Formats: sequence, C-alpha cells, structure tokens
Amino acid sequence: MSVDALADLIRGHRPCVVLTGAGISTESGIPDFRSPTGIWATYDPREYATIDAFLRDPVKVWDFYGRRLQVLGDAEPNEGHRALAELEERGWVKAVITQNIDRLHERAGSRALVEVHGSVRTSSCLDCGTVVPLAEVVALLPVPHCPNCNRILKPDVVMFGELLPPAEIARAEQLAGEAGVLLVVGSSLEVYPVAGLPLGTLANGGRLAIVNRGATPLDARASVVIDGGAGETLRALADRLE
Ligand SMILES: [Zn+2]
Repeated sequence: MSVDALADLIRGHRPCVVLTGAGISTESGIPDFRSPTGIWATYDPREYATIDAFLRDPVKVWDFYGRRLQVLGDAEPNEGHRALAELEERGWVKAVITQNIDRLHERAGSRALVEVHGSVRTSSCLDCGTVVPLAEVVALLPVPHCPNCNRILKPDVVMFGELLPPAEIARAEQLAGEAGVLLVVGSSLEVYPVAGLPLGTLANGGRLAIVNRGATPLDARASVVIDGGAGETLRALADRLE
C-alpha cells in the first residue's frame, strides 16, 4: 500500500495519534531488541533488563546501560523523528506515544510526547528518591551512585517486571481511544500493554495504520499497512500533508 493512501486516511480521520517503537530509531544507529542483530541477541534480557537482575547485581546492569548511554549519546534524530515533529507543528499529529527511551523524539522537536517505557533523561535512587539528570549520570559512570546516600542509582526506564508509569499509560490509553487514526511506526506490537493500544482505537471506531519492516499481529485489522522504513515513509507522508 502507498503513502498516498496513508495521507488520505489521516486527512479523513482526525486526530492522528502516533505510536512508535524501536524501528524508528534503528536508522539513527540504535539497535532494536528482538531482531537477529538486536540487543537481546547479545545480552540476555533476564540478566540485564529485569528489575530482579538490577536489584541482584546493579553493577552488571550498569555495565550494560553504560554502553547503551554511549550509543544513545552518539545518536541523532533521523528523518522519521523530524517528519513527526513537523506533522505535529502543522496540526496533523496530536501526540506521539513512544516505547523508546532514547529521547530522539524530544530532540527532533516533538512536544506532545508520552514515554510509556520511561527514558534515560534521569536516573533515580530507590532509597531516598534523589533524581539525577543524564549528564550527571554519565559523569558518574561506570557505576553511578546516589550523591545523597550513595546507593547505586537506577535508570528511569521501565525494566521487565516493573509496572509502566501509571500517568503515562493512562494518557496513552486516552489518546489511543480518542484517535481517528492511530499510526504505528516501527513497532512489531508484541510487548503488552502497549501492543493493546491499537485495540482501544479500533474499539472506538478509529482506524489503524502500520508502518513497519515485517508483519505485525494487527496487520489484518489495519486500513493501511506499509512494509518499509520509517524515515523515508514519514518524510514522504509529511511532504503530502502540507
Ligand atoms: Zn539516595
């Protein structure tokens, strides 16, 4: 299916809410999680990405996060991030819900942003609640300790075994339920509860559009499916929605 069909869908069913996953950031050089070259092919998520692993061995988990912060620090927003920020500024996109923790939407200029898996913007102390911004955390690597009580900090990203931030997931569910079109970009829609957001859109009579490399479980229920790269597809979409 074509970008023209996607543009027509968005013109006819406002507002458009966007849901992004790791696939929008791979073009910025950030590896995804589940592909054969993804992060979980090298790092077992049970050892590096669960809250239990962090509580058991935070030094080991920070070795992993230190490397990720290095990659994220070198990354720049790509054409896909920039096109979504433009579409928001022109009034076509109401909000972006993202599973990504990389801050690239914010750096590209998106304003109405819901980060349902948290972000690397801050790390927090689980004992005294001190919140430390990213630049200070980077300066404290390889193992950042709380400047107040010296406990090892935890990155403010949602780990497996943790609940999603309640305010963010509630906002995401509200936006998805109100969307005329929910445009999914770069997510294989496999991780719940985020993968359930499109069902809320469909249940309320909204339409679903999917831009992703590879199939998703909801392709059959989408009005438009584009098997393609996020950057080129969203740039072409922004050019059609002047
Ligand atoms: Zn502390």
